[in-house]
Amino acid sequence: MTSPATDDARVAGLPARLAAVRARMADAARAAGREPADVALLLATKTLPDGVVRAAVEAGGTLLGENRVQELVTHGPAVADLRPTVHLIGHLQSNKVSAALPWVTCVESVDSLELAARLSRRCADADRHLDVMVQVNVSNEPTKRGVPPESALGLASEVAALPRLRVVGFMTIGANSLDEAVVRTGYARLREVRDDAVARAGLPGATGLSMGMSRDLELAIAEGATIVRVGTAVFGPR
Ligand SMILES: *Cc1c(COP(=O)(O)O)cnc(C)c1O
Repeated sequence: MTSPATDDARVAGLPARLAAVRARMADAARAAGREPADVALLLATKTLPDGVVRAAVEAGGTLLGENRVQELVTHGPAVADLRPTVHLIGHLQSNKVSAALPWVTCVESVDSLELAARLSRRCADADRHLDVMVQVNVSNEPTKRGVPPESALGLASEVAALPRLRVVGFMTIGANSLDEAVVRTGYARLREVRDDAVARAGLPGATGLSMGMSRDLELAIAEGATIVRVGTAVFGPR
């Protein structure tokens, strides 16, 4: 497809597209000797109207990923009664932390101690805790957010020391490359960071690996992804 789908077409296609993505995920897990149930499907909802997001949850989507706080604050209320789990997967500006927090249980895009400290303070104000992931830039592309792999363990340890945050893993946006070896090497790098965090940096709960999107989820699952974040393959082109 080259033109944006209409919202009706997106909704009508949801069950089949969801099933197809789940089948890809299960095949990739089995090929890697993993249990299909050990990889979660996060639906990336950026730019979609509230009605399409709601239809995706009604079609069985239980985990949503929001990029932008301005969309999170309309998608969130539109699906709240269906009780999906919602993660923030896009850059979070400090001045939007308070607006975002009521709608999310995990911020996957923590890339600075300043942001983490603010999240922890606002969680204290609300007397709650928050799961976070450290976003890592495994491909060193200058346009991508995230800390370099060498800095990821240090940041994760500092974040874990904050009172209200639990570090549950690491997230990356894969290399923007058609070369599978390049993409896969990046995902392997994130897995190494995670393995070090769990085994050597005293972060036994940091087991999560959020990596892989529509075009490369197989590679990410082969390298250990526990969450793949999929938009286009479920909703059609944006
Ligand atoms: C849009 C987006 C995705 C999903 O990308 P698709 O190629 O549409 O599957 C995953 N992660 C992040 C952070 C995104 O912004």
